[in-house]
Amino acid sequence: MSGQLARRTFLAAAAAAVVAGCNDTSGPDAAPVVADHTPIRPAAPAPSSGPASTSPAAASRPPTPSELGVIPVLMHHRLTPNVSGEYDMTPAFFRAELERLQREGYHPIRTLDLVRRDLSTVPAGKTPVVLTFDDSTPGQFALDKSGRVVPDTAMGILLAFQTRFPDFPAVASFYLNKSPFGLTGADVPRALKYLNDAGCELGNHTWDHPNLRHQTTAQAENEIARLAAMITSAVPAAPPRTLALPLGVHPRDRRVLASGGHGSTAYRNDGVLLVGAGPCPSPYSRTFDPMAVPRIRCSSYQGGRGDLLMDYWLDRLPRQKFVAASNNSKVVPQT
Ligand SMILES: [Zn+2]
Repeated sequence: MSGQLARRTFLAAAAAAVVAGCNDTSGPDAAPVVADHTPIRPAAPAPSSGPASTSPAAASRPPTPSELGVIPVLMHHRLTPNVSGEYDMTPAFFRAELERLQREGYHPIRTLDLVRRDLSTVPAGKTPVVLTFDDSTPGQFALDKSGRVVPDTAMGILLAFQTRFPDFPAVASFYLNKSPFGLTGADVPRALKYLNDAGCELGNHTWDHPNLRHQTTAQAENEIARLAAMITSAVPAAPPRTLALPLGVHPRDRRVLASGGHGSTAYRNDGVLLVGAGPCPSPYSRTFDPMAVPRIRCSSYQGGRGDLLMDYWLDRLPRQKFVAASNNSKVVPQT
């Protein structure tokens, strides 16, 4: 494929992915079809190669600095050995996903770091990646009776991976709803403190996970504020500052995403995550919008062979991805 054709395919796929992220109605974060979008399919969709694969080109290319390149923000939902839909992933598949990311020079950061344009933790030659988890289901995080993280949870897998690869930190952004990880009572602040102390981000996914478009402005603010209050009560030093839209749907008044309140709780968000789509522009690019961060879907449903999942994008990123320079985070954003 010529370079020009490859670029056209990349852009066409990006356009298609925006639509694909909105078309699915089968999962917990599925959004309704956007009426004014005409679905476009990629010009030449490549067969999925599974998370354990690495293209020879990707493996051999030297890491030339490129701080206007794109960044994958990966969207995960349930981690479960029993996959029943496209929002599920097995622990084994997640381990393989981490193997590929590490092998190809990715370095985990939080959504908060991305939207604040602080990539100072990313070593030269590495590419930032954001690992996000929506819906705070039990397979993402659990502590056993001794206070140890359950190994087959997302956090358990990340910690074990960090032990093997200390330069791949166990950092992720968890988007919580009420009863995070299926916990109640004192187990909630215990879990949230653990994750915060481990360097993970506690993000807002609203209290009840409603379709915000169907809510009044006051109701939407209440949904965001109640969840913010839960996190702030557990970890006063780390109020949530980013939000993942439930179902990927915006409220009618988008201003409530940036700031608002309910009762005695005021909140502020510096970033908003969308559902699906494709890679995120560099935070130093003029196209970067911290209040509309696109994400890449991750799934092991049907062997992870769905369209436009992580492998699809990672196969295409070597020429377009962000690669940190030695003076990383000293870049003046485009205006
Ligand atoms: Zn959700």
